[in-house]
Amino acid sequence: MNRRVVVVGAGVIGVACADALAQAGWSVTLIDRGRVGGACSHGNCGYVCPSHVLPLAGPGVLLSTLKTLFQKNSPLAIRFRADPALWSWMFRFARRCNRRDMLTAGRALHALLQSSRTLYGQLFDRGEVAAEWSPTGLLFVFRSPAEQEHYAATDALLRSEFGVGADRFQGDELSALEPALVPGLGGGWLYRGDGHLQPAELMANWSAAARARGVAIREKCEFHDVVVRRRRVIAVRAGDDEIPTDAVVVAAGSWTPLLHRAVGIRLPIEPGKGVSLTTSRPSVCPKYPMIFEEHRVAVTPFAGGFRIGSTMEFAGYDSTINPKRIGLLTDAAKLYLREPMGPDVREQWMGWRPMIPDGLPVIGPAPRADNLWIAAGHGMLGVSLATGTARLITEMLDGRPPHVDPRPYRADRF
Ligand SMILES: Cc1cc2nc3c(=O)[nH]c(=O)nc-3n(C[C@H](O)[C@H](O)[C@H](O)COP(=O)(O)OP(=O)(O)OC[C@H]3O[C@@H](n4cnc5c(N)ncnc54)[C@H](O)[C@@H]3O)c2cc1C
Repeated sequence: MNRRVVVVGAGVIGVACADALAQAGWSVTLIDRGRVGGACSHGNCGYVCPSHVLPLAGPGVLLSTLKTLFQKNSPLAIRFRADPALWSWMFRFARRCNRRDMLTAGRALHALLQSSRTLYGQLFDRGEVAAEWSPTGLLFVFRSPAEQEHYAATDALLRSEFGVGADRFQGDELSALEPALVPGLGGGWLYRGDGHLQPAELMANWSAAARARGVAIREKCEFHDVVVRRRRVIAVRAGDDEIPTDAVVVAAGSWTPLLHRAVGIRLPIEPGKGVSLTTSRPSVCPKYPMIFEEHRVAVTPFAGGFRIGSTMEFAGYDSTINPKRIGLLTDAAKLYLREPMGPDVREQWMGWRPMIPDGLPVIGPAPRADNLWIAAGHGMLGVSLATGTARLITEMLDGRPPHVDPRPYRADRF
């Protein structure tokens, strides 16, 4: 009989893990308290971006974050409250705002981002999963020439430390590259190694491919706990059932810290709320996905639509969508694009990024039992890191040598 595994959480990380484990011969049950791809993996910007190798915590970030917090209309917001988990998260984040920690985390992120990018290429080349995959690159755009110049130091760092460099475009070159931009912008940097996809299609088609490979998918099935005998999980309590199993992978995104009793550790993961607005395609639609750096707003063109996304709000598990924060997206897009959005609004969305202070996901054994694993805390990069995470998890469960050094992702590093 095949070895059985239950994967908890059917976001991009859970679906990737379920599919990879099924390919490795495991008999997989994938459960979700809601529906497949119904949480943060639905309305994100769909970037697969090895260029995002530097974690959020870096030198000078603390000061700039504090300044931003007091600005009106800032994309970053923190709802301060008497919540020890939030304060401890912020303290841990603050401690890592230095060059040494940033580069150490960057090296670990780089390994997983590169492996994921290669694996996505293979996944889409095999033609098993359609998701509008478009490996055209990601354009960072600046309004101010000074900010564009200032970014040269970051690009040089990415090039020298990680071999991830961009091509620089200015003036008419930028307008020729991306005619959807307004004239007179400061300039842009194109990271040609990045790609983008349509997140909802990815989730629908990847889960269908996994199902075709034999993965049993159970929606509206909430995980409660594990049944442990002599340090081994023998079953999972979910919904009204006990599901017998030989291993468990918890990939519950932002909800993972709420499962601390089951996994034996309270991980410092905070929900970082982001919003997006999806419309029909503008008549002058961008060719490239772009990040408007000074406003921290991202846009993605799809075959049948267009998305603007951004903002980061630490407000606990609050799922409201504040129209003012959607307004921040369109206000920013107006400054950069000839046509900031399409005529028909299709969706206003929010998702909780599973934010972790050092910017590295947790991928590895959970303390509670020897056959219990965690794959969570992918922050702003869950789509970009999913395929590498799934390969690493599969290698760990199979007891095979890992393709990247797993030590930076340990659950007990905090
Ligand atoms: C505006 C925005 C833009 C973004 N853009 C990008 C981008 O361009 N590129 C990129 O790489 N990343 C991006 N991200 C981040 C990315 O979306 C996340 O990192 C990723 O979706 C996290 O995936 P996940 O599977 O860990 O979590 P989720 O997708 O949140 O999935 C977790 C699942 O676990 C389930 N669950 C929780 N608790 C239980 C339980 N007890 N029992 C059963 N099921 C449970 C939930 O129902 C949920 O379906 C963006 C995020 C936002 C908000």
